[in-house]
Amino acid sequence: MIGLISATAAGAAARDRLAAAWPDRTRVYEGAVGDAVRAAFAECGQLVCFLATGAVVRLVAPLLTDKGSDPGVVCVDESGRFAVSLVGGHGGGANDLAREVGEVLGASPVVTTATDSAGVPGLDTLGLPVEGAVPAVSRALLDGEPVALDAEVPWPLPPLPVAPRGAYRIRLTDRVVDLSEREVVLRPPSLVVGVGASRNAPVDEVLGLVESTLREAGLSPRSIAELATVDAKADEPGIVAAAERLGVPLVTHPAEELARVAVPNPSDAPLAAVGTPSVAEASALVSGGELLVSKRKSAMVTCAVARRPGRGRLAVVGLGPGARDLLTPRAAAELRRASVLVGLDQYVAQIRDLLRPGTRVLESGLGAEEERARTAVDEARRGHAVALIGSGDAGVYAMASPALAEAGDDIDVVGVPGVTAALAAGAVLGAPLGHDHVSISLSDLHTPWEVIERRVRAAAEADIVVTFYNPRSRGRDWQLPRALRILAGHRSPGTPVGVVRNASRADESSRLTTLAALDPATVDMMTVVTVGNTATRQIAGRMVTPRGYRWQEETR
Ligand code: SAH
Repeated sequence: MIGLISATAAGAAARDRLAAAWPDRTRVYEGAVGDAVRAAFAECGQLVCFLATGAVVRLVAPLLTDKGSDPGVVCVDESGRFAVSLVGGHGGGANDLAREVGEVLGASPVVTTATDSAGVPGLDTLGLPVEGAVPAVSRALLDGEPVALDAEVPWPLPPLPVAPRGAYRIRLTDRVVDLSEREVVLRPPSLVVGVGASRNAPVDEVLGLVESTLREAGLSPRSIAELATVDAKADEPGIVAAAERLGVPLVTHPAEELARVAVPNPSDAPLAAVGTPSVAEASALVSGGELLVSKRKSAMVTCAVARRPGRGRLAVVGLGPGARDLLTPRAAAELRRASVLVGLDQYVAQIRDLLRPGTRVLESGLGAEEERARTAVDEARRGHAVALIGSGDAGVYAMASPALAEAGDDIDVVGVPGVTAALAAGAVLGAPLGHDHVSISLSDLHTPWEVIERRVRAAAEADIVVTFYNPRSRGRDWQLPRALRILAGHRSPGTPVGVVRNASRADESSRLTTLAALDPATVDMMTVVTVGNTATRQIAGRMVTPRGYRWQEETR
């Protein structure tokens, strides 16, 4: 819950706007400001104070205990121009909250945490447990001192500005290691601990065996991804409680599935009891990986440990038609999440400023689509977090399909939709896509012209609004007139046609003309051409295709 506190009328007005925007997330604290801040501090995970920073500093200072547990506090000034992340930037989420509040109130977020302002992710924000010299290594990252990354387990980390070697070191490992004063260790959730237990095995015995097994193997309990067992033990109290105490999920598998897993130490006892010759080893291994510790036993419990390396992550990200504010926040977040960026050089140039220091950029020129797709997938297979970018939507005449044709189920794939050229052009022109519409690419580089022509003819006969992509280039000039002639066989010469060049970019231009009057020479590869259907009209200089609702027909 976010506690809201204000003192003045202007503050209360801004407070009410925020409360109205987030009715389920916020609670308004009225009354004397000091009491309100103290109550909210005790009861809420976050506070937004519509007060001077000085006043808030004085009020919360005596309440602060620990940055891991204190609420995040954001201050908004009297005129609502700034949302200041005051304390709890990372742990309390105040930096993110300042940005969110800024969006609702139209205020600029003010974030002074060094890692955020330098675009370096805080070591405590990577989503993995971290141990060791966190302040020293963070400082070194910020100061641009060489910090090496030593990853024993492949893991799709966000970008970090690391060097091949350095006085400081970030280690990524599930093993117990001795750390120097210049090292941190990140704990990937890479260990799957398979457990079996006789009925009513005590939780202390389960936990004891898991912990001693890990200790003797030199493995860190903070890298446990899950406890795994057979379905029949899903409610075994000792196992359930052990998972709870370790703070990890308990995952169970059907006996038939476990019986199919090849294990080093099968035995008859579990086969008779639950229908699989192995519970611990098979549960550890069933979702892939390698066995690190084979079955160990105590009186009532068995345990085995497997390592499951991280799955690479491929984000296929649409950048939108060009304008920065038509690039979605989700796309921006994915660009910052990826440690490897793959794309056409001109698209990379468009978003380079959004990338975090340390991002490896693999750019290539026009053509080379298959190679780009393969590079992106290969990098993800190696366990990296990869963003493959495309203009508009990356799934529309772009990189998503060649990449996903290459990708197997050994990587995770995330798609981020983008505003397509057709949509951006539609918005410039008016409402040309108000009824059924198609996009047709006129590039016959990789598609035989007969196929393209068949589709144009089908659209013509079905009276569908058409947006032509890749309409005309220097070497390809007869395709557009041919396509327009086919449409003209079914639509009047006066049918509105919109030509939009560089939609949403600095040099955007657009023209509204007709099928008969369109001059193909005004069209190039930076253009889309949208041809209306028989109902499309030019109204007040805008292209409008009626929805075709009955009520519209009647009132016309
Ligand atoms: N994935 C993109 C399309 C790539 S194909 C999308 O979803 O929009 C490339 C073609 O898209 C260009 O030849 C041009 O016809 C069109 N195009 C892309 N961006 C454009 C823009 N900003 N304005 C006009 N046309 C654009």
